[in-house]
Amino acid sequence: MALQSLRGTTDLLGETVHQWSRVEHTARRLAKLYGYSEIRTPLIEDAALFLRSVGETTDIIQKEMFRFEDRGGHEIVLRPEGTASIVRAYLEHHLDKNQGFAKLFYLGPMFRAERPQAGRFRQFHQYGAEAIGSSSPWVDVEAITLCVEILRGCGVASTDVWLSSMGCRDDQRRSAEALRKRLRPHLGKLCKECQARFEKNVFRVLDCKNPACHEIAWDFKGSPFLLCDACTAHFNDVRQGLKGAGIAYDDTKTFARGLDYYTRTVFEVRAKGLGAQDAVAAGGRYDHLVEELGGPSVGAFGFAAGIERVLMAASGDVKPADAAASRRGVYLAIAQPDLTGEGFRLIQTLRSRGVPATMDYDSKSLKAQLREADKSGCQFVAVLGAKELQEQTITIKDLGQGSQRTVRLASFAEEIAGPAKASCHSS
Ligand SMILES: [Zn+2]
Ligand SMILES: [Zn+2]
Repeated sequence: MALQSLRGTTDLLGETVHQWSRVEHTARRLAKLYGYSEIRTPLIEDAALFLRSVGETTDIIQKEMFRFEDRGGHEIVLRPEGTASIVRAYLEHHLDKNQGFAKLFYLGPMFRAERPQAGRFRQFHQYGAEAIGSSSPWVDVEAITLCVEILRGCGVASTDVWLSSMGCRDDQRRSAEALRKRLRPHLGKLCKECQARFEKNVFRVLDCKNPACHEIAWDFKGSPFLLCDACTAHFNDVRQGLKGAGIAYDDTKTFARGLDYYTRTVFEVRAKGLGAQDAVAAGGRYDHLVEELGGPSVGAFGFAAGIERVLMAASGDVKPADAAASRRGVYLAIAQPDLTGEGFRLIQTLRSRGVPATMDYDSKSLKAQLREADKSGCQFVAVLGAKELQEQTITIKDLGQGSQRTVRLASFAEEIAGPAKASCHSS
């Protein structure tokens, strides 16, 4: 039996690739517009990077990382998320000293060794942005605005932005105490994992997927996070800023981000059409991570969005690309095999003018070539025969519109280059 792709991984081809490219292009363009520059980091990292940043008690570390030893006995992981790598790179390249404040955009695959299920993949793809080196609430406002703008640009029209604050580390200690006090009478009813989490990291109980735990953990009004005056002021500034930017949000929903490094502002963007549990994008402030990874004590804010989820959320709002409009380039058909050399010369002329062009090299019948031309997605099929060659003409058919004309061979490239080029959609 032929080999197949692994469960939880996908091949992208055909029109799907164009859809992905459009999302990537939109995210890149808008991130640049907001002053973020692109960074590309390796897919493999030292396991310690994620143990120190994401948090040892999180699901990612305990169950979901692809972790292996290389031949030298180093523990390596396939990156499960982007933020830790970006902060590592920020420090490794001394952006803290040379630049101080850096706004970085990234895009690429992430890996989780979880059991594949609907909407979850072992290799999934994210774009994200990290603003490192500032504690200003305006950084939060700008990043959340960018996040929403990219989604809009990708055709995700109806979104809900959930906004909350997890407070500073002191607040989190007080909040943890309060949460333990509230949960202690129900400790016996929590699942085994949550009983372990209760002492080590009680906030993990808040994102347990076990329904019994969920019911007990969320049986109260308001946020589980108690905020000091400074964190309250920061949160108010973020809300004011978002109002000014015209970004609607809901700060009544209670939720916790499942990674240890978050402090103060956290947010999730939910899109209609996706399951109630699934955020299409999410992020927040992480004011201690840079220091915890060996850098200076500076604030930072970031978000990431899942490209698979963006496309799922966008599909209802965006019309599928018009097949006729997305046709591009030329398929050159030849009436007999000994015209291959002449045909190749012609398509090279087209290519040199930026017109995508292709032809058959396997002596297929003209009928078979015309069938292939139609399937190829080319806008034009041009037929070159011995008689035409003698008369120095060629027949061009527009496969999108069905019109046909015969032109001088000498002006073939000019005839095509204009309209074919203009019809090429950027991807
Ligand atoms: Zn605080
Ligand atoms: Zn539980």
